[in-house]
Amino acid sequence: MQLINEDDLYHVVFNAPVGICILNAATRIVEMVNPHFLKLTAKPVEELAGKPYLESFAKPGTEDEEALNKAVQEGLPYTARRTTLLRVDDNRGETVLASFLYSPVRNKEGKVTRIAVWLLENTTEAMNAELAAANEELAAANEEFAAVNEELAAANEELVSTNDELAETQASLQRSERLFRSIALNIPGSLILVIDQSHRYVIVEGDLMEKMGFDRRDYEGKHPAEVAPERYEASRHLYDRMMAGEKFSVERRSETGDFYLVHFVPLKNDEGETIQGLIILLDITTIKQAEEKSAKLAAIVDSSDDAIISKNFDSVITSWNASAERMFGYKAEEIIGQTIYKLIPPDRQEEEPNILARLRRGEQVNHFETKRLTKDGRLLDVSLTISPVKDPQGNIIGLSKIARDITEKKLEEQRKNDFIGMVSHELKTPLTSLSAIVQMAHSKLRHSEDPFLTKAMENANRQVKRMTRMINGFLNVSRLEAGKLLIEKQPFDLEELLQEIVAETRLTISTHNFNLEGCKDIIVNADWDKISSVVSNLIGNAIKYSPKGKLIDIYCKVESGSVIVSVKDEGMGIKPQDISRIFDRYYRVETDNTRHISGFGVGLYLSAEIIRRHGGEIWVESESGKGSTFYFSLPLVQQ
Ligand code: ADP
Repeated sequence: MQLINEDDLYHVVFNAPVGICILNAATRIVEMVNPHFLKLTAKPVEELAGKPYLESFAKPGTEDEEALNKAVQEGLPYTARRTTLLRVDDNRGETVLASFLYSPVRNKEGKVTRIAVWLLENTTEAMNAELAAANEELAAANEEFAAVNEELAAANEELVSTNDELAETQASLQRSERLFRSIALNIPGSLILVIDQSHRYVIVEGDLMEKMGFDRRDYEGKHPAEVAPERYEASRHLYDRMMAGEKFSVERRSETGDFYLVHFVPLKNDEGETIQGLIILLDITTIKQAEEKSAKLAAIVDSSDDAIISKNFDSVITSWNASAERMFGYKAEEIIGQTIYKLIPPDRQEEEPNILARLRRGEQVNHFETKRLTKDGRLLDVSLTISPVKDPQGNIIGLSKIARDITEKKLEEQRKNDFIGMVSHELKTPLTSLSAIVQMAHSKLRHSEDPFLTKAMENANRQVKRMTRMINGFLNVSRLEAGKLLIEKQPFDLEELLQEIVAETRLTISTHNFNLEGCKDIIVNADWDKISSVVSNLIGNAIKYSPKGKLIDIYCKVESGSVIVSVKDEGMGIKPQDISRIFDRYYRVETDNTRHISGFGVGLYLSAEIIRRHGGEIWVESESGKGSTFYFSLPLVQQ
């Protein structure tokens, strides 16, 4: 093998198409540096010869140094890559990515004598130009891109804010819808539909959904024609009316007998255009049933023969039936809203507050007989039944008053009373003569030798007296009822009257003991005969209703301008339920103990009336089985 000489090598190096620089083993530059390599530096070859390669072409400590050292030490080629500046012409340089290949050259012995450094450029000028052009285009494109990007960013910003608004609107829409649904769901007995312009269901909600054959998942978004064509045909004209902007309601009755009220409400936008329709269906079956019931009740109230009136606690009339019109002469429209006092005669005005007080206490007022005034001023005899009207919670909200016209009944009673009065009157005349004869016979035969006659006359005298009392009682009742019971007052000593009665009773009654106490110096202004009959009746009852041998105590007590007379017995007493009624006309306590005792239940009734007409009061305190004490009070004569 023929080795080329240094000269030849120089030419090879000089003409090589890539950059070559030859170094000695000490990595110093020998004179062989070709023009391609010289593009890395501005220095001439002469200046470079003999200089360390690293000083001239590479920086120590870089990849170059490492590659170069390895190539020297190991005798193997190593590459270093770096970007570097190439001088393209005098004025301009160009940065390229270059590879430096450090390739060791060995002699025959294999010793590294030279290092050939190859400069392998990655860019040619053409490529660079293309690249530059492309780069320019890219830059332009980039600029455009940047502009577009800016626009896009702006648009994006807008979009983001619009999106936020949209999200907010969406959320508020969702909230509204949820609210709407929950309202719809919570209206008891309802079905709410929202339809769009083409009648398609937008919302179907409400607790009647299933009952009405609706299921939200199936129906929303669908057209009624596809899900319930028959029903749609039947209600289509109503949908059309609503979508034409008309708001209306219809009532429907289902095959099962339920009642529905259906409201059709057009939902309009700001321009007044109907965009959706709201259909609210309400189950009004219970309301309808209640209406029917109250209509029936109203019919009953209206057809009643009794006047049925309701009023509030301010005594203002709130309802008035047909019979009330007939009975009192006022039309409903002229009396509703007026006071009930219009119907009450002037002398009975205090009745109303008394009745109200009783009702407030929860009592009922049944068959209270009184008089009421008609529009034309006539007095009617009426029987009143008054009861509180309560709301479903049990609060008293008013009063109902049933007034029965008892004028006929009263007339009938009057006729009966007149008859009794007449009979009693007729009986009195023969009885008076009989009484006189019996008394005479009694006194003549008092000392007869025949004890039977004495006893018989005593009995006859007692019985005649009893009969006289009874006849007088009936006579007085009929007088009282006819308003003819006259009270003729005159002042007298009460003790005198009481002593007279007790003495007389002692004469005829030997079965009981009598005690009169505390009645001295009491002057009353009263009707002697009438008060006598009251005391006689009380003492007579004490005898009748207490066993033989018992004491009857008559006692007087003066208290704040009145005298209270009491008649106390130790008899059977009166049960609480009877106490309030024993002063009623013809009322008698019916028990096994009283059945054999004769009487008509008029004594206490008359006594009470007499005392009341004297401005006094009468009452009883009693314990069943222990005895009773009857009291009456009379105003004292002012000294
Ligand atoms: P009567 O003629 O029935 O005695 P009254 O009007 O005098 O009529 O009395 C009414 C009723 O009151 C009596 O039937 C009786 O049941 C009851 N009563 C009256 N006085 C007494 C009394 N002292 N003790 C018990 N019950 C009495």
